[in-house]
Amino acid sequence: MHGVDGLWGRLWKTNVPPKVRSFLWRAARNNLPSKERLLSRGVAVGGECETCKSSFENLWHTFFFCSFAEDCWRCSDLGQYISNITNSCDSFVEALFCIIGGNNEELTARVCMVLWQIWKDRNRAIWEGVFPVPARSVLQAAEARIEWLLAREKRSVQHPSSSPAVTCGGWHPLPLEYVKCNVDATFFSDINAVGIGIVVRSHDGNFVTGKSMKLMGLRRVDEGELIGIKEALSWLKFLGLSRGWVESDCKRACEALCSSERNISEMGTLAAFCRKELASMPDIQVNHVRREHNGIAHFLAKAARDFDTHHVWNEPPLAVEGHFHLPCSCV
Ligand SMILES: [Zn+2]
Repeated sequence: MHGVDGLWGRLWKTNVPPKVRSFLWRAARNNLPSKERLLSRGVAVGGECETCKSSFENLWHTFFFCSFAEDCWRCSDLGQYISNITNSCDSFVEALFCIIGGNNEELTARVCMVLWQIWKDRNRAIWEGVFPVPARSVLQAAEARIEWLLAREKRSVQHPSSSPAVTCGGWHPLPLEYVKCNVDATFFSDINAVGIGIVVRSHDGNFVTGKSMKLMGLRRVDEGELIGIKEALSWLKFLGLSRGWVESDCKRACEALCSSERNISEMGTLAAFCRKELASMPDIQVNHVRREHNGIAHFLAKAARDFDTHHVWNEPPLAVEGHFHLPCSCV
C-alpha cells in the first residue's frame, strides 16, 4: 500500500498531460468549484447538477453517479472498474486516491483522462449550454492523451537526451512510387485483447490509408506484431502497392522473420507465413524501427479499442493529422 505522501507523489507522476495532473491535484484537494463547495462557501447558487438536472451536485455525483458520467464509463469499457472503486470507497477523494494508487499505470492514465474530460464537459454544459455526448467525450479524452504522447515523442526525437544519433534500418528518402507501411501492436490488459495499427504513407510522407484491428483473447503483443506484419503484407498486395518498406518496432517479431530455423510455435508459423508472402513481393522489405518513429501506427493500434473488430481509415484521424512529417516520414 502507498502512504498518503506516496500517493501525492504518484499523482504528480501519472502519465497524463500536465494540465490533467493539475486538475487531479485540485480534485484531490477538494478544490474544484462544485455546487456543493460553492454553497458551503456562501455563494448563492442552486445546488442542482447542470448535466443531468436530477440530483444535487457534488464531486461524488459528478464523476461517478451522474447519468453522463455513468455513460462515459460504460462507453470506455471502464464501468466495472469504476463500480468496484465506488463500492469500496466512501468519498470522491478516497476513490480518486484509489485510482491513482492502482498498479496498472495505463489504466490509471485512461481513467484520469476520462475524469478530466467529464469535468471539462460539465463546465461546457454550465457555461456554454453545450450538452456532451458520452461516446464523443470518451474519444476526445483518449485523443487528448495520444496527442500529448505524440508531441512528447516528437520533442524527444528533436532533443534526444541520452541516446546517441538515431540510426534506423531503411531510413532513407523514398523513391517515387515507393510506400512506407508502419505496424504496431498494443495489449489491452483490461479487456484481454490486442490492438493492431497499420498506416501506409506515400513516398512524400502523406497519409494513404490506415487500419485499426482488435483481436479479442490474444494476449501476446509480439504475436500481435507478427499478425500485423502479415496483415500489412496482404493489404499492400491487395492495394497493388508492391514497392516499399514495412516497419515494426518489435525486435522479437523482426528477429522471428529473419530466423531460418524451423519453428512450430505460433510465432514461428506466423513468421513462416510472412516469409512466404515476402518471397512473392521482392520489392518489399521488413525493417525494425525505433519506437518513436512508429507513433502513428501506435495511435491506430490504441484506437482499435473503440472498434468491434476492425476499422479502415480513409482519412487520417484528427489526433494525428499534422504528424505525418515527423522524422518517420523519411522526407
Ligand atoms: Zn448529474
